[in-house]
Amino acid sequence: MGKAIGIDLGTTMSATAIVDAMGRPQMIANREGKTLTPSAVLVRGAERVVGERAKRAAIAKPHNVFQFIKRRMCDPDFVFIDEDERQHRPEELSALILKKLKQDAEQALGTEVTEAVITVPAYFADLERNRTRQAGEIAGLKVLDIINEPTAAALAYGLGKGEADKNIFVYDLGGGTFDVTIMNVIGPEALRVLTSGGDRFLGGGDFDADLSAYFVRQFESKHGVDLKKVGDLKTDQAFCDAAELAKIDLSADSQVDVSLSAAGKVLDLTLERRDFEKLIKHHIEKTKDLSEEALAAAKLGWRDIDRVLLVGGSTRIPMVREMLQQLTGKTPEVGINPDEMVALGAAIYAANLSGVTVRNAKGQALKQVSLRNVTAHALGVITLDHEHKDVNSTIIEKDTEIPTEKTRGGYTTADDNQTSVRLQVIQGEDLEPAECIKVGEAVLEGIPALPKGEPKIEVTLGYDSSGIVRLHAKELGSGREIRSELQCPALMSKRQIQQSAERVDALKVS
Ligand code: ADP
Ligand code: MG
Repeated sequence: MGKAIGIDLGTTMSATAIVDAMGRPQMIANREGKTLTPSAVLVRGAERVVGERAKRAAIAKPHNVFQFIKRRMCDPDFVFIDEDERQHRPEELSALILKKLKQDAEQALGTEVTEAVITVPAYFADLERNRTRQAGEIAGLKVLDIINEPTAAALAYGLGKGEADKNIFVYDLGGGTFDVTIMNVIGPEALRVLTSGGDRFLGGGDFDADLSAYFVRQFESKHGVDLKKVGDLKTDQAFCDAAELAKIDLSADSQVDVSLSAAGKVLDLTLERRDFEKLIKHHIEKTKDLSEEALAAAKLGWRDIDRVLLVGGSTRIPMVREMLQQLTGKTPEVGINPDEMVALGAAIYAANLSGVTVRNAKGQALKQVSLRNVTAHALGVITLDHEHKDVNSTIIEKDTEIPTEKTRGGYTTADDNQTSVRLQVIQGEDLEPAECIKVGEAVLEGIPALPKGEPKIEVTLGYDSSGIVRLHAKELGSGREIRSELQCPALMSKRQIQQSAERVDALKVS
C-alpha cells in the first residue's frame, strides 16, 4: 500500500512531510534537495516545470510562468492564459504542483505515495476547499482530508503540550496571504477553532512589490528614467526578485547592498532595515488590526491567550515579531522553521487518519487528535431589501461550530401571484451578494397565488464538516416544501476531473 503524506500547498511555497517508521514527523526534500518548493508552474509545450526552475524562468518567460495560483481559487471564472492563448484553470495548475510534490516525495521515500492531507487557510470558503480537494484528485491523490493550516501548525508545535483549556493564537504571514486563527485546546488531544480571519491579498509578495516600487523611484531620481512607463515585464520581475532577496537579507542584517540594472543603466544602493520597515509598516499594521478583530470575534482579551505561534516565512521579519510581542505581551513561539510547521502538522494528521503511530521526542505514542471546526464564513440566501436591491440574509453565522443546522423565517414573495421562489445560497459576511461566493441554488415551486408579502417562507440550512450544504425551504401556509443538497456550479464535474487528470497524466512534469 502507498504512503500517506502531509502537503502544505502554499501561495508561494509548498512543502511535504511524513511521519517516519520511528513515528517522528519529518520534512521530505524535493529533487533539488530543498524542503520548500516554489508554487510556480512553467508551461513549455507538453512539459510543465514546477518549483525553483519555474520561478527563475519568470524573468525570461513572464507570460508562461504562473504564480500565486492559490489566490485565484476563490474566483470561479478566473483562468490563467499563456502566450499561446491557452487557458489554464487554477485547479489544474495546483494539480501540477501537487503532482511534482507527489513525484519528488516518491523519489525521496523510495515508495509510492497515494494519499495525502492537504492544508488550506482557515478562512478558505467551501468553494476553495473543494477545488483544492479536486486538484488533489487530478494529481492522482486520494485526499484523506483538507485541514486548516493554523490547525496543522498547532499540531506540529505540540498540541497544547498536554494542557487542557488553553487558547492558542496562530499568526501566519506567508508569501501571499495573511491568516490569523484562535484555537482552544479542549483536552490533550482535542483542538477547536474559535475564529479565523485574514486577508487573501497580504503577504511577503506585497513587501517585495513595495520594495521593488521603491527601487523604481530611486532609479528614476538617479537616471531620470521612469521604468513604469517602459513597462517591461522582465525588468519588473528582476526588480521583484532583487527586492525579495534584499528583504530576506534584512531579516538578518541591518543593511544590504543592492545592484540593479535596467534600460542600459545601473543603480547601486545601500538599503537600511529602517527604510524597508517604513515601506511595509502599513501592511504590518493591517495584520495587527486583523489580529485584534479576531480576538474580539473570539470574545477574548490578550490576557486569555496562552500561546502565540508564528507560522509562515514572513514571520522571520524582526518587525513582525516585535509588533506581536508588544501587542500580545507574550514572546511568540517560533519553530525551527516557521515555513515547515504546516506540512509537519499535516503529516501528523495524515498519520492519524491512516493508522500510523505518531511519537513524541521521548518516543511515547501519542493519541489520535480530534479536530473541531467552525464555519469559516457565514451562509445565507439572497433576498431583496425595501429598495428591491439584492442583499445577503445570513442564516448560519460565521464561526458556528459544525456540523450545524439553522432555520430562519420571515421570507416571502416580491410580486403578486408569485408561485415560485429562487433560493440562491451564498457564503460570506458582506451584505453585498456580489462580494460573497455562490454555493448553489434551489427553487421552491407551487406556492399558492397570493398578494406579494403574504406567503410565509422558512429556510433551513444544514452544513457539515465536508462542506456539503443542505437546504430545506417551506411555505408555511400551503406546506409546499423543497429539500435539496446544493451543488456548487463552479466546481468541476466528475467527468471534468477525469479529463483533467488525463491531461495532467499526459504531461511531463518535473
Ligand atoms: P506561503 O505559505 O504563503 O506560500 P511561506 O510561509 O513559505 O509562504 O512564506 C513565503 C514568504 O516568506 C515569501 O514571501 C518569502 O520571501 C518570505 N520569507 C522567507 N524567508 C524570509 C526571511 N528570512 N525574511 C523575510 N521574509 C522571508
Ligand atoms: Mg503557508
